[in-house]
Amino acid sequence: MLGLYIHIPYCRSKCAYCDFASAAVKGGVPDEYVDAVLRELWRFSPCGSTPLRPDTVYLGGGTPSLLTPRQVSRILDAAGPVPGAEITLEANPDTVTRDVLAGFRAAGVNRLSVGVQTASDESLRRIGRRHTAAEAARTLKDARAAGFENISGDIMLALPHYTADEMRDTVALLAGECTHISAYLLKIEPDTVFGRRAPDGVPGDDEAADFYLACVDELAARGYRQYEISNFAQPGFEGRHNLLYWDCRDYLGIGPSAHSCMSGKRFFTPRGTDAFLRADAVYTPDGDCTAQDYIMLRLRLAEGLSLAKLQGRFGVSLTPAQTAFCRSLAQNGLARFDGETLSLTPRGMLVQNSVLTELL
Ligand code: SF4
Repeated sequence: MLGLYIHIPYCRSKCAYCDFASAAVKGGVPDEYVDAVLRELWRFSPCGSTPLRPDTVYLGGGTPSLLTPRQVSRILDAAGPVPGAEITLEANPDTVTRDVLAGFRAAGVNRLSVGVQTASDESLRRIGRRHTAAEAARTLKDARAAGFENISGDIMLALPHYTADEMRDTVALLAGECTHISAYLLKIEPDTVFGRRAPDGVPGDDEAADFYLACVDELAARGYRQYEISNFAQPGFEGRHNLLYWDCRDYLGIGPSAHSCMSGKRFFTPRGTDAFLRADAVYTPDGDCTAQDYIMLRLRLAEGLSLAKLQGRFGVSLTPAQTAFCRSLAQNGLARFDGETLSLTPRGMLVQNSVLTELL
């Protein structure tokens, strides 16, 4: 199994909370960037001329919906995904029309991930998004009309001055149209507009935790099963690409700041679009994929960590002290543990970092 991630480091403007590798650009994605992506795809191609044939492709960013359908076609032709591959493109509502979405579908994209974030126009303005809630709702409908049957929507929770009503309105906006929903808590990163000047009204940790748990319940009531800390899906619509990450499978990331792990070796491309365009960006080693990584990633999943698989893949077993700790997590409602599989409950997922620190 191979997952291919292509990073598109361009946006119309920078959102107040965002520290992803992206910069504002006028117009669309320069063709020279697409040329550079193709150059890197050929670098990793078996024999230098055969497509990589990935099982999943994820066009993320940045704002990949600034690509034209023709540019998407060029990338997918060069990658040569296997028949039945999951091919996802992230789209922002202010950048697409129904015709453009139909073009992406015709180019081979079969899963659209739409950045909705919230149903409150006031919150959207505050966090620097360029679209309204009505435009996001229209994009979801346009995606259906353009032939997308697999649509994911992003929600941000615990925004400044957030309320339970805002969360419920946002879930309601997405629920009718999306097969998959990702819900994230706002995190203030240092090198962002919010990091430089903290906004008023950001919920505290306990309040944010309550919004998260209420959102998990709201989504469950609407038929979305939580399969990962931040991800919820109708049956059969779990994101296959990210599941490769969380199961320590091979993935190749192309573009500035993209991370990869191939045959257990991690590496990444440094930030900096200019260096990437000039082919100066060096693939930098980032260590091996270890048993600790596997434990951390598997505990993000509702399915959890199988101790037999941990032993089979890494030759590692839990110590008696670790096993006792797993039992105490279960007694305190933070995990389920039957002696073979350890999985965190939604309450346990909220404190996953502390759980891992103690466990590892
Ligand atoms: S559109 Fe996405 S990648 Fe671009 S600035 Fe906003 S959050 Fe960041």
